[in-house]
Parts: sequence; C-alpha cells; structure tokens
Amino acid sequence: MHSATTHEPRTLGDHTWQDQAACRTSTHHTVDPELFFPGPDEIDRITAAKTICAQCPVRRTCLDTALENGDRDGIRGGLTEEERDALHSRLPQRVDYARINATFAGGDVHLSRAERRAVARDAYQAGIPADRLARLLKITVEHAKKLYRHAAREISHRNTKTTRTAKAAPITPAKTPARADLGTAA
Ligand code: SF4
Repeated sequence: MHSATTHEPRTLGDHTWQDQAACRTSTHHTVDPELFFPGPDEIDRITAAKTICAQCPVRRTCLDTALENGDRDGIRGGLTEEERDALHSRLPQRVDYARINATFAGGDVHLSRAERRAVARDAYQAGIPADRLARLLKITVEHAKKLYRHAAREISHRNTKTTRTAKAAPITPAKTPARADLGTAA
C-alpha cells in the first residue's frame, strides 16, 4: 500500500485507541460482536457493521492494526475480509513517510519492508552509524549492516542508471520561435 498520509501512526503495543471504538459495548449501548463476522452474502449484517464503522473515530487505526497484525478475519476499519485482501497483500510495499519520520524520532511504530529499507537508505545517506540504525529499528548491529549493504547497492545502482540516462538523452537544439509564435509583438 502506497500512502502519503499524515495520519499519526499507532505506537506498537498501544491498545488505548480501542477505548474509542464505535463497536465497543458500553453502559450506554450494546453492540453484538458477531455483527462484524458476517458471511459473504449477509448483506444486511455487512451494511449494519459498516454503518457503525463509518461513525468510528478510530477507523483508520483499526484498519492499520488489522493489516499490521495480519488479522484477516471479520470487518475491520469498515472493510470486509474480501475488501481488505488486496491491502494485506500490498502491505510489504507500503511507504508512509509519517512512519519513517516517527522512526527517526525514536518512535516504535510498525514498518513495512519498504519503509524499513527507506529508513536504512536515508540513515545510510545521512552517515548514521550502523549501531544507531540498529537501535532505531530495534534490530541487531549485524542486521543493520546488512541493510546498509543493501542501501549502498541500491544507491549505486540508481546513480549508474541516472548517469546512463543522462548520457543517452538526445541533444535537442534550442527552438527558435517561428514568426507566427511571436504573436502581435513580432
Ligand atoms: S472501525 Fe469498525 S471494527 Fe474498527 S474499531 Fe471502529 S467500529 Fe470497530
């Protein structure tokens, strides 16, 4: 999932958002949890669950959590299992800069594989030592060094490609405006 969202990512292990869930049974209203596990043809139950999700203030966090936990069961974040399927599959490619920035700020947030590589690439280019990257990503120094080797190869490959493209670009002669292009000023 590619996203340029400004949504504040959830800190790993934080469940406090569930206190605001619209599907939570409280002293004021009861919600049948089974409503969120309808069969594929139970349109009325699906509609009822989605109506609750549509009013939920933590819908986005609920969806993120389901994706990050690989929770494919039931309606989450207003989406059915079938509707979430493609998002689950694309999660490893998600690049959300809010998460990358939160990681550099020391936050403990879920990172996709692509986001993890983006952190390593940015850290490598900023000259951040491998042991600091290890602390940011909560991985071993060996693993951080491996990510740096990958980042170095990726950057070198990208630079080579840019140089080749620049060399191959045809030289376009400067366009001399035709008299007609000059309009009334001619
Ligand atoms: S989005 Fe729907 S399933 Fe998720 S917490 Fe809100 S009401 Fe419950």
